[in-house]
Amino acid sequence: MQGKIIKGIAGFYYVNVVESGIFECKAKGAFRKDGIKPLVGDDAVIEVLDEKEMTGNITEILPRKNELIRPAVANIDQALVVFAVTKPKPHYNLLDRFLVMMERKEIPVVLCFNKTDIASHPEIAELKEVYTGCGYPVIFTSAKEEENISELKSLLKGKTTSIAGPSGVGKSSLINLLQSEVKMETGSISKKIDRGKHTTRHSELIVIGEDSYIMDTPGFSSLYVNDFEKEDLKYYFPEFTPFEGQCKFNGCDHIHEPGCAVKEAVEEGKIHKIRYEDYTEMYRELKERKRY
Ligand code: GDP
Ligand code: ZN
Repeated sequence: MQGKIIKGIAGFYYVNVVESGIFECKAKGAFRKDGIKPLVGDDAVIEVLDEKEMTGNITEILPRKNELIRPAVANIDQALVVFAVTKPKPHYNLLDRFLVMMERKEIPVVLCFNKTDIASHPEIAELKEVYTGCGYPVIFTSAKEEENISELKSLLKGKTTSIAGPSGVGKSSLINLLQSEVKMETGSISKKIDRGKHTTRHSELIVIGEDSYIMDTPGFSSLYVNDFEKEDLKYYFPEFTPFEGQCKFNGCDHIHEPGCAVKEAVEEGKIHKIRYEDYTEMYRELKERKRY
């Protein structure tokens, strides 16, 4: 039988098997000799010990697609980055920093702007312009009025998605809506998580549908944008790509160089000013090696 590890506590791993439920397992496989420790998000082969009690052994860990260290999780398919359209207004620089980190880790991003019920049209239009303009899928939701939630669900379907964003933007409200329909039949650990009392910091996947999982990633605290060279930053702005190689100078960093195709694109409105400003700010900080 095959399933996904959604949680690990004190030597036990909880493996969700689609259509069967959650099995409490111990790690018994040969992988342990290779120094492999099961991770939340791992796809695992299990042998069932007791069908009624839903216990088993993990006998094999399938090859990982990727692995994050903080939070410790494997096989993340995408990140859902949640900000509010307003209250609080999005902090563009913080958002762009996060996008750079995800580009660097090669994790696809879906952007979600919540609280459309209290937002104005121009506020929504600006966000749409800035972020669809650089190629990210963008969804606008209202957790309060349950608007666009099924569209959000379909973006998450069949995937393991890490959810991140600053506090107060409606992440918990959205997560509650996403898991509201899931009937969890088995055992105490599969009960809906009471997020109010959920203070532990270990990673855990929440089942939101058949083979669909989300992981709440607390805060942006571990966001360092200084573990690479400033010359590499431009590669993490996908909208610069069409203009690469068109600048006058080889290896142009698109800052002060004359004949820069990227700067020209900014002036012509093909690249958004806000994104370019965040680029130059991050570039300057990398040059000075500031820490966040
Ligand atoms: P989190 O800190 O990102 O998990 O945000 P919460 O889900 O705790 O929401 C923060 C506050 O925003 C709460 O008072 C929510 O009731 C409110 N909120 C969440 N979603 C919406 C929304 O779509 N519209 C409005 N008007 N308020 C919302
Ligand atoms: Zn240039």
